[in-house]
Amino acid sequence: MDPWKLAYHNFDPSKEKVREALCTLGNGAFATRGAAPESSADDIHYPGTYVAGLYNRLKSNVHGRAIENEDLVNLPNWLPLRFRIEQDDWLELCQLDILEFLQELDLRRGVLQRRVRVRDAKGRITSLSERRFVHMRDAQLAALETTIVAENWSGGLTIHSALDGAVENRGVERYRQLASKHLEPIESGSLEWGATWLKVRSSQSRIEIAEAARVRLFRKGEALRAARSLMEEPDYVAEELSLPLQPGESVTVEKVVALVTSRDPAISECGLRAQKAARRAGRIQDLLQSHAEAWAQLWHRCEIQLAGCEPRAVMILRLHIFHLLQTVSPNSVDRDVGVPARGWHGEAYRGHVFWDELFIFPFLNLRLPEITRSLLRYRHRRLGEARCAAVEAACHGAMYPWQSGSTGREESQALHLNPRSERWVPDNSHRQRHINAAIAYNIWQYYQATADHEFLYFYGAEMLLEIARFWASAARHDPDSDRFDILGVMGPDEYHDNYPGRQVRALENNAYTNVMAAWTLWHALQVLQILPEERSLELKRQLGISERELAHWDQVSRKLKIPFHGDGIISQFEGYDRLKEFDWESYRKRYDSIERLDRILEAEGDTANRYKVSKQADVLMLFYVFSAEELGTLFERLGYQLTPDTISRNIRYYMHRTSHGSTLSRVVHSWVLARSDRERSWQLFSEALESDIADVQGGTTPEGIHLGAMAGTVDLVQRCYSGIETRDNAIWFNPCLPDDIECIKLRLRYHGRWLDVIVERKRLQLCTDKDATGPVRVGFEDRIYEMQPGERREIVL
Ligand code: BGC
Repeated sequence: MDPWKLAYHNFDPSKEKVREALCTLGNGAFATRGAAPESSADDIHYPGTYVAGLYNRLKSNVHGRAIENEDLVNLPNWLPLRFRIEQDDWLELCQLDILEFLQELDLRRGVLQRRVRVRDAKGRITSLSERRFVHMRDAQLAALETTIVAENWSGGLTIHSALDGAVENRGVERYRQLASKHLEPIESGSLEWGATWLKVRSSQSRIEIAEAARVRLFRKGEALRAARSLMEEPDYVAEELSLPLQPGESVTVEKVVALVTSRDPAISECGLRAQKAARRAGRIQDLLQSHAEAWAQLWHRCEIQLAGCEPRAVMILRLHIFHLLQTVSPNSVDRDVGVPARGWHGEAYRGHVFWDELFIFPFLNLRLPEITRSLLRYRHRRLGEARCAAVEAACHGAMYPWQSGSTGREESQALHLNPRSERWVPDNSHRQRHINAAIAYNIWQYYQATADHEFLYFYGAEMLLEIARFWASAARHDPDSDRFDILGVMGPDEYHDNYPGRQVRALENNAYTNVMAAWTLWHALQVLQILPEERSLELKRQLGISERELAHWDQVSRKLKIPFHGDGIISQFEGYDRLKEFDWESYRKRYDSIERLDRILEAEGDTANRYKVSKQADVLMLFYVFSAEELGTLFERLGYQLTPDTISRNIRYYMHRTSHGSTLSRVVHSWVLARSDRERSWQLFSEALESDIADVQGGTTPEGIHLGAMAGTVDLVQRCYSGIETRDNAIWFNPCLPDDIECIKLRLRYHGRWLDVIVERKRLQLCTDKDATGPVRVGFEDRIYEMQPGERREIVL
C-alpha cells in the first residue's frame, strides 16, 4: 500500500458517506466533502461545503418548546457536474454496470482522484477520470477536472454544471426534526467569458456568500467550443454544454470555482470578488502546481517519519495530520475562527468549538504555532461574552462556554435526541466548566513552546487572570474541612450530570476540575511575576485585582478539595464511591456495542448516573495533562500525597469502568499506559487510529471527523513516545518507544527555532537549524544542554 494515499477500490453505497467525510478537501478557510460531483443529498450521498466559522441561528419547536441552535451552515454546492448521452438519464453510478473503480485521496498533494469505467443498459462504455482540490494557497479557489472518454459509442454528450444553493443542513439524522434552511437567495447570473455565479445570504447572521464557476472544455490541451445554455432559478444556476463525441474521443471539463464571503479578509463586495477570482485563476494544471507547492511546505513542517511501523498506521497518521491542516492552516490565521471538534467536514456538533483544543494544540504548538496563536485570539475576542456569562452565574472573571460558535455565548443544545429511545432529553453538558481550565492550560503551553511574550503580554495573561478569577469566585469555603469546594459542575465524563434521585442536575468537586482550577490559580499568580512589572500593575488596575484578591487565589489554589475513596483512589467526584458497580458482562452480552451506555440506559428507563461507569477519561485526564512530577508538586501544594503507586492504582481502577464512548478516551488511556503497559497502550493507540477510518462508532464519522482523536494520535507519537515536555525554558526529552516503532523523525519548532529530532530505541539525535538566531535549550534527565545553531548532539539512552 502507498502510505501517502487513502484508496478505495470499489463503490460501496453503504460506505459512501463515511468516505465523503474522509475525502473532504479543505484549506482552513473552507472545506467540501468528498461527494461525487454527480450526486445530491440522499440516502447514499451528502455533499456539503462549509466555510470556517460561518454559522447561522434558527429556532425550532420541539414538543411545544422553542429552542434555538447555531449551526455551521451547509453552503451552495459547487461540485455538480453531470453527464448524459443524448437524451438518456444522467450518468449515476448506482444505475450502471461499474467495470472499474478507483478513488484515491493523495495526502501529499491534497488531491482527490476518481477513475471510473461504466457500461450503461445500451452497452455503451464510458470512462471518467476526475481530480479536484481546494486550493491551499489561494484560499478562495477550488477546482474540479473531469476527462470523459466515449470508449465504444458516438453521440451527443451533454454536460451539466451547477452551483446549487437550494441546499439545507440535513447531514445529521438526529437534527432532522429541527429547522434546517439557513440560506436565502440574493442574485445569480452568467458572464460572457464562460462563467456562472450565485449569491446567497445566511438568514440570521446575514453573511453573504458568493460562488462563481468558470467551465471550460479541452481536448488534448486545445480549447473546445460547445453550445451553452443557461438555467436559472433563484437558488440554482447551471449551464449545459453539448458536443458530439466519436468512439475513442475524449473531452476534459475544467471547472474552477471561487467561493467568497462578506466576512473574508480584505473584502468589499463578495459577488464581484468571486467573479474576478474565478476569472483570474487560470488553468487547472497551473493551479494544481501552486496548490501542491503549498502542501509540500506544510508537510516539510508537519511530517512525522516512522520506521518499523506498519504502512497502514503511517498512512492513517498522515491522514490525521492532513485533516488537521485542512481544518486549520496558515489560511485560518487572523480569520477569527476556533478549531471545531468535528472539522469543517460535516454538521455534527454544528461546527462548534469545545475543549478538544487541548488535544489539538500540542501538535500545532511545536509545528505551526502561528495557528495556535490565532485560535487563542478567537478565545480572547470572546472574553467579553465569557465575562457576562460569569456574572450571570453569580461569579466573577470569565466563564467560557462549553460549546462556542460565532459570539462566544453558550451554544450547547438544551435538549438532545436519544436515537435509541427517540426521546428528547435535557443536555447538561454546558456544566463542563473545565473548558476554562483547558483554555488557561493551552495559553500556558503555547507560551512554553514559543516564548511568545507579546501574546502573553497583550492577550494571554488577561485571559488567564480572568479565568483564575472565575475559579476563585466559584470555589466555596467549607469551614468544617477548611477546604474549598466547586459545586454545580460536570467533569469530562458526560455520563454523569447528577446524583441519583436529585433534582438539581450537577455534581460536586469533580477531581479533574478542581485540580485544573488549582493549577490555573497557581499559574495566574506566576504569570503576574513573569510579566514586566509595569504590565502586571496595568492589568491589575485594569481588571481591579487587589492584593487581597491575589492572597485569596493563593489560598484557594492550596486548599481546593480533591475527594478520595478506598485506598488512594481519587474519586471522580464527591460521592462517586456511593454509586453502584455496573454489570459490564451482562451488558456486553446483550448489546453489540456498549460505548454509548448513557443512551442504552436511558432507553431502558435507567440512567448512567447510578453507576460507576465513565464515558471517557476523567480522573485519568490528570495523568494525561501533567507529568507525574508536575502532578506530584501540584498535589503536594494542595496538601495531598501522590505516589507512583497511586497513579497506577487509579489507572487500573478507572480503566475497567470506562466504556470509551468518546473517541478522545482511547487517546488518553493509551497515553497514560505508554510507560507502564506498553502492549495495552499500543492496542488502544491502534484502536484510536481506527476511530474515523473505520467509523468505529458506527455512523458518527459521516457527520464529521473527530479532530481531537486525530490530533491526539499524532501527538502520542510526537510528544508521548519521545517524552517531550516544554518547561523551565527548555525542551525536555524522555523517549520510550513502543515495540512497534523503531524510529521517529520529527522537525519541531521550539522558541522560534527549528530542531530536527531522531528518536531510536538506544539513541536520541538532535540537530539545531544552522540559521537559528540563538541557542536552543534542551533538557535530558536532569541536565540542560545549550545547543548552538547548527549543532548536532547524540544522547545514548
Ligand atoms: C465528548 C467531549 C468532546 C465532544 C466533542 C463528546 O462526545 O464527550 O469530551 O469535547 O464530544 O468532541
